[in-house]
Amino acid sequence: MSQPSVRPEIRRLAPYSPGLSIADIRQQYGLPQVIKMASNENPLGASPLAQEAIRRHAPFAFRYPQGGNPRLAGALADLHNVDQNRIAVGNGSDEIIDLLIRLLVEPGRHAVVCFDPCFSLYPIQAGINGVRVRRCPINAGQNDFSFDFDALLGLADGDTRLVFITSPDNPSGYCPPPEAVADLSERLAGIAPRCLLVVDEAYVDFADDEKASSLLASGVLPENVVFLRTFSKSYGLAGLRLGYGVLPRSVAEYYWRARLPFSVNILAEEAGLAALADTAFRRATLATVREGRRVLARGLRELRCKVWPSSANFLLFQLPPGAVPARACFEALLEKGIIIRSLKSYNLPEHLRVSVGNPRENAAFLTAMRDILDRPRS
Ligand SMILES: *Cc1c(COP(=O)(O)O)cnc(C)c1O
Repeated sequence: MSQPSVRPEIRRLAPYSPGLSIADIRQQYGLPQVIKMASNENPLGASPLAQEAIRRHAPFAFRYPQGGNPRLAGALADLHNVDQNRIAVGNGSDEIIDLLIRLLVEPGRHAVVCFDPCFSLYPIQAGINGVRVRRCPINAGQNDFSFDFDALLGLADGDTRLVFITSPDNPSGYCPPPEAVADLSERLAGIAPRCLLVVDEAYVDFADDEKASSLLASGVLPENVVFLRTFSKSYGLAGLRLGYGVLPRSVAEYYWRARLPFSVNILAEEAGLAALADTAFRRATLATVREGRRVLARGLRELRCKVWPSSANFLLFQLPPGAVPARACFEALLEKGIIIRSLKSYNLPEHLRVSVGNPRENAAFLTAMRDILDRPRS
């Protein structure tokens, strides 16, 4: 048979580069114990109430989910004090990102705008959908990973349909002031009235002061803004795939028409509802992450690393001048059974990102780093 004819957008696609898994490293290095601080997962695991909900609902796995996830959408509307008609629920916020592009951006005609570097899924899903991506560097020149909103707006025009920002940002942890994001949305509306600003707040609850850091939490929601949140990080349900968004009402309605009918499975939905109710677990998670972030930042700075201020559950850092290359440090950590994130796929080969772990994991990471950086270079 001749080659199946795959669309050119797909032929150009590189395989997605996720964080390494514990199973990968255990096998490759023959290690019994592996610590994963690579994918910004919850250092306390999954909420106990969510685990119980999964067990309780396992017997009903033979049933299809209720269409439209109304109970979960209702709980989320209450949480954020918005109309339930504005809530979109998806198989991870990844699904919502993909669907927003497919709903709003015409292939070959319209464009999306995002920073470089940014969360890789925005440009990847745009590419898969045949949509042009315009990107500008974050804060050209200043190396503080702050957002150059003037440059971003400079890329938007009448054919732009979506502008993506991540707040706090991945991989830097930088969090723009909500007033600056509100101002961006207002200026964007002037330049591109049919364009939506997507504010991905996957990590915003880890900020020391969530209320002061989130435009969604401020309660003042501009009409041209989509907010994304996820159950993958502070709620500890990354493996179940559950995310949500607060959308303009008309977009939310089309979202539900176009979404695969059952993309959120019943165990994810029940676990999500239980995780929302598990306020004790959530409080413990936020306290663990905020304290662990301070411990890791202090420890890395004592080792003379450059650490960027972070409002998220990870830290971006660079090794001190004269140390081993970042790649060598990443591999030396793997040999010790510790997985962090190399940022080659973000085009930042000299930077590393470490997720905040539990106290034992944070201590093991800092001990390993001390060992690697103190080692005489041959
Ligand atoms: C982790 C993350 C998400 C969450 O994705 P899910 O599909 O909900 O797991 C969204 N945006 C960014 C920037 C992330 O880093």
